[in-house]
Amino acid sequence: MNQEDLFKKIVAHCKEYGFIFPSSEIYDGLSAVYDYGQNGVQLKNNIKEYWWKAMTQLNEEVVGIDSAIFMHPTVWKASGHVDEFNDPLIDNKDSKKRYRADVLIEEHIEKIREKIAKEVEKAKKRFGDSFNEEMFVSTNPRVLEYKEKIDKITQRFTKALETNDLEDLRNIIIEEGIICPISGSKNWTEVRQFNLMFDTKLGSVAEGANTIYLRPETAQGIFVNYLNVQKTGRMKIPFGIAQIGKAFRNEIVARQFIFRMREFEQMEMQYFVRPGEELQWFEYWKEKRLKWHLALGFPETKYRWHKHEKLAHYANAAYDIEFEFPFGFKELEGIHSRTDFDLSQHEKFSGKKIRYFDNETEESYVPYVVETSIGLDRTFLAVLSASYKEENLGEESRVVLSIPPALAPIKAAVLPLVKKDGLPELAREIMDILKYEMNCMYEEKDSIGKRYRRQDAIGTPYCITVDHQSLEDSTVTLRYRDTMQQERISIDKLFDIVKSKTDMNTLLKKL
Ligand code: ATP
Repeated sequence: MNQEDLFKKIVAHCKEYGFIFPSSEIYDGLSAVYDYGQNGVQLKNNIKEYWWKAMTQLNEEVVGIDSAIFMHPTVWKASGHVDEFNDPLIDNKDSKKRYRADVLIEEHIEKIREKIAKEVEKAKKRFGDSFNEEMFVSTNPRVLEYKEKIDKITQRFTKALETNDLEDLRNIIIEEGIICPISGSKNWTEVRQFNLMFDTKLGSVAEGANTIYLRPETAQGIFVNYLNVQKTGRMKIPFGIAQIGKAFRNEIVARQFIFRMREFEQMEMQYFVRPGEELQWFEYWKEKRLKWHLALGFPETKYRWHKHEKLAHYANAAYDIEFEFPFGFKELEGIHSRTDFDLSQHEKFSGKKIRYFDNETEESYVPYVVETSIGLDRTFLAVLSASYKEENLGEESRVVLSIPPALAPIKAAVLPLVKKDGLPELAREIMDILKYEMNCMYEEKDSIGKRYRRQDAIGTPYCITVDHQSLEDSTVTLRYRDTMQQERISIDKLFDIVKSKTDMNTLLKKL
């Protein structure tokens, strides 16, 4: 199946099985805003729990907060968002579609990279076992030409972004012959800057209302609470503050489903360290965060590091963890060394001292910060797209979501074979054994085969079938989602088996 079809199927599947619905759908939806349905919210909550516990429970020096979405407007002046949280946009005059100029160029570079990969594939086939990839990519003239092109564009592009040279961004698009994917034309407008923050009014207009912003990131809520948490928690450096919450961005190009939304959720952690030690902590968190992803059990090849060529002016190192979505490798999480920029800015704008007195060095300083910032919705999409499988079973086929059991919306479905003879009653007793500890579903409608398929489609790791034999010997059939194997299990062993495989601790213990 090609990746575009796969993506369409995943989107349709999300809707059909109660994971994600378009917002306000009865009014034809609202662009780039989505609602999570009955299964979606469970999966989302489980991802949150995995992150939250990994951060705050497993790291003694990391604590959590939950700050408000609305913040004093000066916060966004200090953070630079009012003046600089812009995306360069460009319109195609024929299709009337709007694009991010930087994304158009990045995608163009990616296409050249794909050409290199194709050359390597071809050569691999041609040379067989004797193929030396390293030598090939460093000597093949065509590959070298592509590489040189990538370097040239990257350098020019990075400079244009750094110097805010919008004209040159446009020139790159024109000179590289980048076309609009909809109209196929090169009829582009000028490039303009566009601020991504949503604003609204606090108080009634009569009172002299203030313009405030919907936060575009959760991080600033952490920075402005640095002193509160440090003092009340008697935190010693290095320490971290974690937060999960909504963020809002008026994205220009809001396509690709929940990958880029206007209202989304972030899971961010700011780690406060001694100046000069930030790069060492940066490496520490890079490693830790990748481990968190890999513990989910998806192939390692689905993840890769992307180094930021263009660093924000306050950062001294930045990497993204990219994930291979059906539409290619894209950013899932950012790990940034933000120096003392944010706290210093808040010190300046608020006039309050935001310092740390280090007993060891007997110095007072503004701490440096290493940030880990991951999109909850993007993680959701990564989990779903890596879990979605269509399997041919001879006469039949099935769609199965092989979601890591600890994240699965429903851990076990309890299914009486028929709706009579006391089977529903026994099934209810089993529900009572399990339901206080895990999310279970009771289902008695339709044939057992159909019920299995429905559970496969929402990623339920276990189906428990109660039949007539169960009444006689207190055993049930336990069916495994991934292998479809079934085994006879005594009812009193059920709880331990299901719990041990689906418990959040199974994931946390891998970290
Ligand atoms: P991009 O380059 O894709 O716009 P970004 O670099 O602006 O992302 P950050 O500001 O670093 O993103 O935000 C941290 C994380 O928040 C991202 O890694 C991503 O997972 C998530 N995120 C950012 N913007 C969105 C969005 N519009 N919709 C969903 N998730 C988002």
